[in-house]
Amino acid sequence: MKIVTYQVERQLHAGLIVDDNRVLNLSESFQAAQQSGLVSSELAIPHSVLDLIEGGAAISDACNTILAAVRSDDLPFHGKDLSQVTLVAPIPRPRKNVFCVGSNYRAHVTEASRAQAKEDKTPKLPVFFTKPPTAVVGPDAAVLLDPQVSEKIDYEVELAVIFGASGRNISPDDALDHIFGFSIINDVTARDLQRAHGGQFLKGKGLDTTCPFGPLIITIDELPNFDNLRISLSVNGETRQDGNTKDMIFNIPRLIESLSEGLTLEPGDILATGTPSGVGYAMEPPHWLADGDVVTCTIEGVGELTNTIRNTGSAEFAA
Ligand code: MG
Repeated sequence: MKIVTYQVERQLHAGLIVDDNRVLNLSESFQAAQQSGLVSSELAIPHSVLDLIEGGAAISDACNTILAAVRSDDLPFHGKDLSQVTLVAPIPRPRKNVFCVGSNYRAHVTEASRAQAKEDKTPKLPVFFTKPPTAVVGPDAAVLLDPQVSEKIDYEVELAVIFGASGRNISPDDALDHIFGFSIINDVTARDLQRAHGGQFLKGKGLDTTCPFGPLIITIDELPNFDNLRISLSVNGETRQDGNTKDMIFNIPRLIESLSEGLTLEPGDILATGTPSGVGYAMEPPHWLADGDVVTCTIEGVGELTNTIRNTGSAEFAA
């Protein structure tokens, strides 16, 4: 399944992508499927993407049944043309901070070490940090730039894991059972703030609008080759990052094992899995994002996430 959250006249709706042109309204379609006896009326109607994820296999199976019935014209289509709706982040307001991993692609570690004149060392354990829910924005949303806060805004395309089943101390062998699906995150970073606050990541990674996320979640059954996908990013059409998810230093099962050690992962939690080489600050000279720049993240099989940088100054942040 390909799952989105879309907005029509300020109302948010969970949706399932039917085909290139249509998105079905999840809760309306679910209700119709229950009324026609296609889906058990004992199931609670999911009203959001988080409801769908938390509903586990029973709700996901029902959604697949509904999609198949709509595609074969056995259930009327309740939804919209994709051209009529605005997509927002698939989980518009995550319940927790977004978990992230730094230094997880070999060539990126090398370029970062060179740019910072540090020893080129592969981390022995994953480097974790988080981005707050207030940083999340959807596809085509503006990434706001306030030169009074930061003048060194950079991009990082990343494959995002969306967790399904809850778990703690998850072994690599069991890790895939805890993945609901995948999406794209641009880990936009204020490099000056990342460096200025004692070597921690939160401040430089946590500014409002610096977590573009989407446009959709693809379930793991439809992306079995998540560990061998081209992952790239362009700025104004110029390719800056071009890697493959097979080049992660810690693969996704290892990341889940390490993150979940003594730490409970819950349905709807998100993990951004690190960025390949080609970030702006490691270019010679460094290239920072500027007003009007159009940044497109592309992951094979998942899709494209495009956002525009807008220098609105402090006023927009105060709103
Ligand atoms: Mg990153």
